[in-house]
Amino acid sequence: MIKTPLDFSKCNVYFDFDNTITSFDVLDDIIEKFSINRDWVVFENAWQKGEIGSRECLKWQMRSVRGTKPKLTRYLDKVRLDGNFADLLGYLKRRGAETAILSDSFSFFIERILRNNGVHGIKLYSNSLRFSKNKIIPAFPHTDRSCSHCANCKKMHIFKLAGRGRTNIYIGDGLSDICPAEHSDIVFAKGSLQERFTKTKKEFIPFKNMSDVYRWFLEVGNVHETEAQQELFEIKRK
Ligand SMILES: [Mg+2]
Repeated sequence: MIKTPLDFSKCNVYFDFDNTITSFDVLDDIIEKFSINRDWVVFENAWQKGEIGSRECLKWQMRSVRGTKPKLTRYLDKVRLDGNFADLLGYLKRRGAETAILSDSFSFFIERILRNNGVHGIKLYSNSLRFSKNKIIPAFPHTDRSCSHCANCKKMHIFKLAGRGRTNIYIGDGLSDICPAEHSDIVFAKGSLQERFTKTKKEFIPFKNMSDVYRWFLEVGNVHETEAQQELFEIKRK
């Protein structure tokens, strides 16, 4: 895996949300806590087995979820992000990297949590929803009609944002991260993503939390800094 100087200004860094920058799967927890029945389990199992895609899974699962906007907001206000995420993001931005969150969850949930945790200025591509009294109506604006696997096609965002000579770095944990990770240059993986990459013998960097990821970037950044100082020294001598 790359340990050579990395020009951050030529990097696109993509983060999954649930279980990557949060310590648990917020969307799964909401579905479990706010569902009026256990139908969601059937769809969850079908999705895990690959029998249905996440668009179909979420469409059915959200039909059993009941919660008004204030009730959901009260829940979201208790969710804490990984404590190192904001610092990591600040570091990457100072170094000129482009950053984005790619999530198969919903913008309403994610935006609220990011704001509550003092995280601003990161692009977000996710599914959307609206409240109809105590029902939640999902919408999938970033779906790839030619592929039924995911509700939000993360690969599509990577393709759209990729520029010539840019390095795509992907950080994730789940089934919906496999496809975008396979189209990235550097991958940080845990959970199902790690299992798949291990099975298919693809290169990845294992991580537990954002401090592992932050440490890696600091290390790579410092290599770059040392070399930059050396270059500067050489120029001054001429
Ligand atoms: Mg995840």
